[in-house]
Amino acid sequence: MSKEVRVRFAPSPTGHLHIGGARSALFNYFFARHHGGKFIIRIEDTDRKRNVEDAEAKLIESMRWIGTEWDESIDKEGQYGPYRSMDRLEIYTEYLNKLLEEGKAYHCYCTEDELNEEREAQKARGEMPRYSGKCRCLTSEQISTFKAEGRTSSIRFRVPENKEFVVHDHIRGEVTFDSNGIGDFVIARPDGIPTYNFAVTIDDYLMKISHVIRGEEHLSNTPRQLMIYDAFGWETPDFAHVSLILNPDRQKMSKRDESIIQFVEQYRELGYLPEALVNFLALLGWSPEGEEEIFTMEELIKRFTLDRVSKSPSVFDIEKLNWMNNHYMKLAPLERIVDLALPHMQKAGQLPEQLSPEQRAWAEQVIALYQEQMAYAAQIVNLASLFFTNELEYNEEAKQVLAEEQVPEVMRAFHEEIVNGDDYTPDFIKQALKNVQKATGHKGKKLFMPVRVAATGVTHGPDLATSLYLLGRDKVAARVLNVADNHKQFV
Ligand code: GLU
Repeated sequence: MSKEVRVRFAPSPTGHLHIGGARSALFNYFFARHHGGKFIIRIEDTDRKRNVEDAEAKLIESMRWIGTEWDESIDKEGQYGPYRSMDRLEIYTEYLNKLLEEGKAYHCYCTEDELNEEREAQKARGEMPRYSGKCRCLTSEQISTFKAEGRTSSIRFRVPENKEFVVHDHIRGEVTFDSNGIGDFVIARPDGIPTYNFAVTIDDYLMKISHVIRGEEHLSNTPRQLMIYDAFGWETPDFAHVSLILNPDRQKMSKRDESIIQFVEQYRELGYLPEALVNFLALLGWSPEGEEEIFTMEELIKRFTLDRVSKSPSVFDIEKLNWMNNHYMKLAPLERIVDLALPHMQKAGQLPEQLSPEQRAWAEQVIALYQEQMAYAAQIVNLASLFFTNELEYNEEAKQVLAEEQVPEVMRAFHEEIVNGDDYTPDFIKQALKNVQKATGHKGKKLFMPVRVAATGVTHGPDLATSLYLLGRDKVAARVLNVADNHKQFV
């Protein structure tokens, strides 16, 4: 790459980190590191109505959680700060004044009501609503009258007529916009605070951003930004607009869409692993060469190139994320899984807030039983519920197993074995099952399946002897006896 790579992720602090935002951030991060460049996080907070308290801190926390590191930001001053738009107002004013002085921007005194009326009239005539240019050439008398009326003014950019603006996009190719389709747009509100399109252009230029990699939803803003670069005679950065992420129904996601979990924070709370989420998000819209799908951050950085980012939208497939997360959970050290799963069990009331060393050791073994099976850590509450209920509920499949005729005999023999032993360990339980086999002549599925179902309520599960051991002698004895005593109920 001939120019120094400097890219940015520029979230507005309007809420938690969205998965779409996280994906854009990751693509920027991979790109920066791939080229030995700089990754910058800039907070774009000039749309103050939409700002949410705490959002900034939460965004940064989520960015840290997914494992990105940045070179410059609000918490890491660099040469081109400040990195929060609202701290850059003086800079914007200087550039707004330049445009005003050169006649490339002008004050507009139209009121909200007037603008609405104008829009409605245009719509009624079947025209595309756009600003009419009413305040383009006001006389000083008109301006004085407006001021005397107490009107305030916004600043509009004077859009050049009959000009084409071409976005040379690394992902979408050449996208051409006709300036006649774009009305003079507001670059600063009456309070002097610039709008997104103005601030982003000034910031990208002054921060020497080489490549703007962001979501497709900003493509329609790009011609406005190009006009501002042009007005100042500045060279533009390269652009790459990444396609949308669709929900599982292949529809555009809305903020209220419940078919999909939309925020990184929620995945964290559910006990997904950040490396799995990163791996998954990386493959939404980007594909490496070959069939491989599991990549560490280092590998993603090594392989990432913009020319393998797809033009078509990608579909969010939660099954795939769950498969991937399960893959990473199986590889993770048990300790890490315990740290993720325990709080869920405590929150669900399965375990007390304060655990004795014995309780903790027991809980760790229960969690270990399900490490292979969990798609994400919050699932432990359901998976392990059989350890915490007094009355098991048997589903149809389980009832069928318990209806078999050998069941009462097997249950009683097994009950006898376990209540009469002094020991109660996995090895003892294995021996007890062997003894039952000898005594009753029932073996294999006829023996293990009813014991498993009677004690755990389910036909499939982790290692039987360990499960029975962790359930404890009393619970297991009561459950098998109950099945023997109530056998008729299952038949
Ligand atoms: N602040 C914009 C957003 O949150 C980002 C715009 C950009 O990347 O240029 O959508």
